[in-house]
Amino acid sequence: MELEKLIELDKKHFIHPTSSIQQQQANGPKAIIKKGEGIYLTDKNDNVYIDAMSSLWNVNVGHGREELVEAAAEQMKKLAFSSTFSTFSNEPAILLAEKISSIAPKGLNAVFFTSGGSESNDTAIKLARHYWRIQDKPEKRKIIGLNRAYHGVAAASTSATGIPEFWSMAGKMMVDIYHADNPYGNGTVKAIQSLRSVIESEGPETVAAFIAEPIQGAGGVLIPPKDYFQEVRNLCDDYGILFIADEVITGFGRTGKWFGIENYGVTPDVISFAKGVSSGYIQLGGVIVSDQIHDVLKDKSSGTLFHGYTYSGHPTAAAVGLKNIEILEEEELVENSRAMGEVMLEGFNKLKEDLDIVGDVRAIGLLGAVELVEDPALNKRFSRDLQVAPKVIEALHQRGVICRAVTYEDTDIICFSPPLIINKKQIETMTEKLHDAIKEVRNGLSATLK
Ligand code: PLP
Repeated sequence: MELEKLIELDKKHFIHPTSSIQQQQANGPKAIIKKGEGIYLTDKNDNVYIDAMSSLWNVNVGHGREELVEAAAEQMKKLAFSSTFSTFSNEPAILLAEKISSIAPKGLNAVFFTSGGSESNDTAIKLARHYWRIQDKPEKRKIIGLNRAYHGVAAASTSATGIPEFWSMAGKMMVDIYHADNPYGNGTVKAIQSLRSVIESEGPETVAAFIAEPIQGAGGVLIPPKDYFQEVRNLCDDYGILFIADEVITGFGRTGKWFGIENYGVTPDVISFAKGVSSGYIQLGGVIVSDQIHDVLKDKSSGTLFHGYTYSGHPTAAAVGLKNIEILEEEELVENSRAMGEVMLEGFNKLKEDLDIVGDVRAIGLLGAVELVEDPALNKRFSRDLQVAPKVIEALHQRGVICRAVTYEDTDIICFSPPLIINKKQIETMTEKLHDAIKEVRNGLSATLK
């Protein structure tokens, strides 16, 4: 169909997720993407872009993988869908649960499937409450998350999210959910003090679980200090609180390990996952629980577990997930993520040398960020009115790179999460374009900045 017609229909009929409806009505869609291949996306005008965010932090094996198409088609021809309610089962779901258990941190060996990250976190939170309830501790129902966390948009995951804008649409959806300070700008000691103080003021006997992303993604790729999660683990153990690691972004190789929490030498009780498990080729997510939790469920969860999505254990989604993990293994993409992450960080460090508005730069595997500040020595942030990060995103778009800004709490953070198949030359091209884009915006600010 012609571009003009598509734009008209988009405005008339398509309500976009996490987007400004008024902006869409004024300007139409930002781009209409028609094709993906490797690390590249092509729009209806034949503009080619580096997909520097793996779309939504998820297309880990890159676009256009025939193997995944074939895995889906083969499974669909045999059995596209059948339910796993009432203990019906199917082979791909069984094999994927086993495969995920084999790559998960030691001691986590049972999987509940969902269709995405929000459902996974709602599941993790409900399971945590259920776990205590069946052990005659129904009062242990409170959940603690972190400021700037993003856990999704279902009821519990919206509430666990620590970016208040996400509560503005319909209110905080769940009671008994609290937030502590994250380690970003606070460091481990203050962040742990904050968490301890929330636990103590609420009463540890009423707290079911603490939930956190190993690296906060939508909050701005906030990499915690090395010792933070060890301290979290100790605190949770001391108070008898479950630790849920939200690995929706950090799982499946993103940080150079299978799971992000492995960078901190800590084992959570529950892992929620989605995105990279299927590289976005199909909707898939889930929750992995510890043997200890599984044992309690087996022992005490009598009757029906009243929680399940129609698509939990979807055979086609599971077949794609299995093939995706096979690709990650065979092409050693977890290792590539680690190696290329170092190249990306080198590129970011060069920007810091050349450009006087580049503040903190960071990366762990292929998850990275560049912060833009008015004065790096003082870590002084730009005025919101200057719209520095959105301007850089636009300048990057003009140069054929799609990535994402985080401007929450007056930060100007440019996030990167390219496909794990990216090579050195492609990373260099990406960071060169970033250099030019920041330089252009910097020059435009010269009149404003003294
Ligand atoms: N958790 C984290 C850490 C995420 O980044 C996201 C999505 O970006 C979610 C949960 C929600 O996942 P979904 O959008 O698949 O529901």
